[in-house]
Amino acid sequence: MIIDDRHYDVIIIGSGAGGGTLAGALSRQGHTVLVLERGGPMALADQNVADVDLFRKDRYHPRERWFGPDGDPFPPQTMYALGGNTKIWGAVLERMREKDFEELPLQEGISPAWPFDYAELAPYYDRAEQLYRVHGRSGIDPSEPPRSAEFAHLPRPLPPFLEPLREALQRQGCKPYDLPLSWSDDRDDPTGDAQLYGLAWGDSQHLSVRHDARVLRLHVNPSGREVKGVEAEVAGEQWLFSADIVVLAAGAINTAAILLRSNNERHPQGLSNGSDQVGRNLMNLQLTSILQLATERNDGRYARSLGINDYYWGDKNVSFPLGHIQAAGGVLQDALFAESPPVLSLVSKLIPDFGLERLASRSIAWWAMSEVLPDPHNKVWLHHDQIRINYLHNNREAHDRLVYRWLDTLKAAEADPITKVVTAAPTHPRGEAPMSVVGYSCGTCRMGENPATAVVNRDGRCHELDNLYIADTSVFPSCPSVGPGLTAIAIALRLSDHLEARLHG
Ligand SMILES: Cc1cc2nc3c(=O)[nH]c(=O)nc-3n(C[C@H](O)[C@H](O)[C@H](O)COP(=O)(O)OP(=O)(O)OC[C@H]3O[C@@H](n4cnc5c(N)ncnc54)[C@H](O)[C@@H]3O)c2cc1C
Repeated sequence: MIIDDRHYDVIIIGSGAGGGTLAGALSRQGHTVLVLERGGPMALADQNVADVDLFRKDRYHPRERWFGPDGDPFPPQTMYALGGNTKIWGAVLERMREKDFEELPLQEGISPAWPFDYAELAPYYDRAEQLYRVHGRSGIDPSEPPRSAEFAHLPRPLPPFLEPLREALQRQGCKPYDLPLSWSDDRDDPTGDAQLYGLAWGDSQHLSVRHDARVLRLHVNPSGREVKGVEAEVAGEQWLFSADIVVLAAGAINTAAILLRSNNERHPQGLSNGSDQVGRNLMNLQLTSILQLATERNDGRYARSLGINDYYWGDKNVSFPLGHIQAAGGVLQDALFAESPPVLSLVSKLIPDFGLERLASRSIAWWAMSEVLPDPHNKVWLHHDQIRINYLHNNREAHDRLVYRWLDTLKAAEADPITKVVTAAPTHPRGEAPMSVVGYSCGTCRMGENPATAVVNRDGRCHELDNLYIADTSVFPSCPSVGPGLTAIAIALRLSDHLEARLHG
């Protein structure tokens, strides 16, 4: 084993939304930071795939296989790269709503409260939106939480055919709003991500990044209270790195896997797992894509655009939350969509050049997104060092209601004689996201003040260790129907303030 002779203030494992942002912030505060990232820099051509290639190749899957509830292997759609999953995300950066932080009755049970409220995270949401140059407009979506100021950047114009669709939905009584999106100024790499707004924003004097460095396990001192070494495989060799503070930000699945793999005499069930909560309560947003027939051709290459939260908290005669609706990006550029309707990707894999271009040019895709409840049986665990996932969606009826409600709204818009951009179709093809769509997962090391039921405290520090923190979506106690990205970034910025006080204290 090679022992790195440098000692850092902080080692961060993973460079996605949480880790990349935290690395940038801490290095700018003057702390020496080492980022260990298992992936490498992503080629520009791979970042911005906007053609049928998105469907044909097994893009955005690492070579490894995880094992699903039935024991069968599957290729997860997850990006091991500088920037992590933010390199392929839709860049929609939404705030959780105030009530999302509270105990919230869903149709199937109570979604638990967070250990802090919206007001505490709000200043970090402000900073997160500024840092990631989020373009949005407030005051339209009635579910929107309070904010201290208008977005610094107005939304970019939508593709022209979507404006009449917005009006058509308004005529149906909906309040479509421009999704808040992170943009860069780079024409070749237009969306913002954690490589740009996290790592590259950092202070290079203080920030060291080792890519292709896969962390295997953490080593503790004899009392088991402190992480003393981080073991990683770098270019086929085992290395040991050390720091005063270690932060796991390897994403909801891999952070849990690293903790479980790091079991030792003091932590026989895995590091910081005396509560047996590490890996449990995995939540994977319920995602259903729905296709609508467009009358005008579009090029299938545009960003996500409209959001609808009219059913977020319920509907007529429905007093529990249903979820969020989002206009997907163009069919040829939405990595999630390419993964999702299995029937489409199957056909396109079997028949090269199956009419995807045509399909894309004639369709508008939507996402229906609904919260799930934490369930201790939904878990990440290891078997012979392989990642296994037990998972059963819950809160399904609420999701189905959302899907059917949205289909009714689309049909009503299509039947409206003023609406010309979409047309009635015999059916609206739709598909639930398959098991391989794990990009929105969260909850496997949840946050809470009680060490018997939570892995980290309200600051993100592991209950059983003094210098180990977690800064990714694994700490989410619940899974909001809007995406988790902005909340992961805000939590990382909040942690940087906490660590600044601790390192200087
Ligand atoms: C196709 C797609 C579209 C999405 N669109 C949106 C969206 O529009 N809005 C939204 O809010 N969310 C979206 N998401 C979800 C969002 O990307 C994630 O919620 C977010 O990136 C999670 O941040 P994280 O820091 O928890 O993990 P990640 O961003 O996944 O980062 C984890 C990092 O850890 C690294 N890593 C893993 N294991 C190790 C190891 N052993 N050693 C070293 N490094 C390791 C990984 O390579 C990665 O860089 C999308 C996800 C996908 C896949």
